[in-house]
Amino acid sequence: MAKKQKVVSFIFPVYNNAGSLKLLCDEVKKIMSPLNYDYEFMFINDGSKDNSLDILQRLARHDKKIKVINLSRNFGHQAAVTAGLDKVGGEAIIIMDADLQDPPSVCVELIKKWEEGFDVAYAQRRSRQDTFYKKTVANVYYRVLASMSSVDIPRNTGDFRLVSKRVVDVIKEMGEHDRFLRGMFSFVGFEQVAVPFDRDQRHDGKSEYTFKKQMKLAKAGVFGFSDVPLRFVSHIGFLVSFLSIIGIIYALFVRIFIPEIAVSGWTMTIVSIFFVGGVQLSMLGVIGEYIARIYNESLNRPTYIIEKEINT
Ligand code: UDP
Ligand code: MG
Repeated sequence: MAKKQKVVSFIFPVYNNAGSLKLLCDEVKKIMSPLNYDYEFMFINDGSKDNSLDILQRLARHDKKIKVINLSRNFGHQAAVTAGLDKVGGEAIIIMDADLQDPPSVCVELIKKWEEGFDVAYAQRRSRQDTFYKKTVANVYYRVLASMSSVDIPRNTGDFRLVSKRVVDVIKEMGEHDRFLRGMFSFVGFEQVAVPFDRDQRHDGKSEYTFKKQMKLAKAGVFGFSDVPLRFVSHIGFLVSFLSIIGIIYALFVRIFIPEIAVSGWTMTIVSIFFVGGVQLSMLGVIGEYIARIYNESLNRPTYIIEKEINT
């Protein structure tokens, strides 16, 4: 009798991907069929406004390996992937976008790395077919994040990766609500390896990562994995105080020793009021970010809510 096959679970977060779902299934099946593994597809419908759910339901009716979790509304990409991580049952778990931007062929390489003993094999973009704006912003962001983060978060890396079951088990124990999964996977440790690939253009439709969602993710990365902004606040505070002392000494000196020029201080006053006011406000904002996160965590609301499950 043949040995029981290992199961590879795929997690596909879906938000308005109706146009690519069928093709995605076909492509990934095509990749998996020559390999000696069993597999399951875990689709998480993140409140799509198109007919993604209908298509998924139809696909799931014909194939029990296709599993669908329908969230009660749009919770965002990171929450959708989290829902998938909580539900999958495979020995290896591959997280992939549902718009075919992550080429399925890379999975072969990811699985190979896993068989070599790596717990995390993350797909690293050698090139990407995105707008100049998005490429530049992503580049700068990952540079800044790397310089201040407490863990090493690899650059040019999204959530496209393979993780072993034991890594997923650890991630499941991490209860933070404002999630930055790629940071969390780095935090976990174990043996990790990069697999370079060229990112494709979207197969269909347009990016649903709106500016607002990108900002949310960017902030989750910075404030979740760094306390540099918080320390930066006090550094700026000290610097401003120091400058103020110099200003005060100067003002007193002029007042006492050269009183004939002393009245002309209006500019200085206005400038320093604005300056200190601005610094204080932005610093308060930074502290506010951390407080908002503490508040969010203390509410302890669920990261996602499941409306229904199919084939799970
Ligand atoms: N996505 C999601 N919820 C959202 C936005 C996006 O589940 O609120 C999914 C989407 O279906 C896709 C992946 O996240 O599988 C990446 O989204 P998108 O292609 O819009 O982002 P980009 O590739 O431009 O970074
Ligand atoms: Mg995409």
